[in-house]
Amino acid sequence: MRYLILSDIHSNLEALETILEYRAYDRSVCLGDLVGYGANPNEVVDLLRKMDPVATVRGNHDKVACGLDQGEEFVFHARSAAFWTRDQLTQENRDYLSHLPQGPLQVEPAFSISHGSPRDEDDYILSEPVALHNFRFFDTPICLFGHSHIPVVFELKNGNLTYQLPSDSAVIHLDLEGTKYLINPGSVGQPRDGNPRTAFGVLDTGQQVMEFHRLEYPLENAQAKIRRANLPAFLADRLAVGY
Ligand code: ZN
Repeated sequence: MRYLILSDIHSNLEALETILEYRAYDRSVCLGDLVGYGANPNEVVDLLRKMDPVATVRGNHDKVACGLDQGEEFVFHARSAAFWTRDQLTQENRDYLSHLPQGPLQVEPAFSISHGSPRDEDDYILSEPVALHNFRFFDTPICLFGHSHIPVVFELKNGNLTYQLPSDSAVIHLDLEGTKYLINPGSVGQPRDGNPRTAFGVLDTGQQVMEFHRLEYPLENAQAKIRRANLPAFLADRLAVGY
């Protein structure tokens, strides 16, 4: 089974539509943060609902946008975008976001999904010690996570932790017997690894392969909409530099 892995879409319709031109997958999963930052929250939620992923977990921005959380820990630009999003969302889409499950969630015997870390949906995995600690919080060989917007593969084998930052079109062979993985496919709608191209992953559970993909998309259109909506200008500027 080939799973399309989407994470941190952040209301970026142009990025999501570009990824949907890629068709070499059987099922999709979403690691949360459908909304927040970008200018098309309803269009993104509608499109994702139409794609009908087999599993979606909620992200921290989804929780604030639908009213489950007040975003007190958010920085200014994130909080103002989350409240703007809350005003924009239709009741139906607000309900959809508020019913998304909390991760980690097992999708099939090979893998689980979470938004932040499997230990805590709001925590970032940005270092080896934090990654190492989190391997005890999921039972499947692989846990896919998002939240940091940085593509990475952490691998735990015989008690040894290693990691790699995958290249734009990396294909990583997995050993699902005796090795565990924490994998971030990168962010669809707001990459933060210095590469502005939209990011997604494909996990092929039959071939035991994780593919990383990056695509150019019309980010100028996403920027123009952010500016027109009077969202913080920084949210438009950062899309061009991938941070
Ligand atoms: Zn995010």
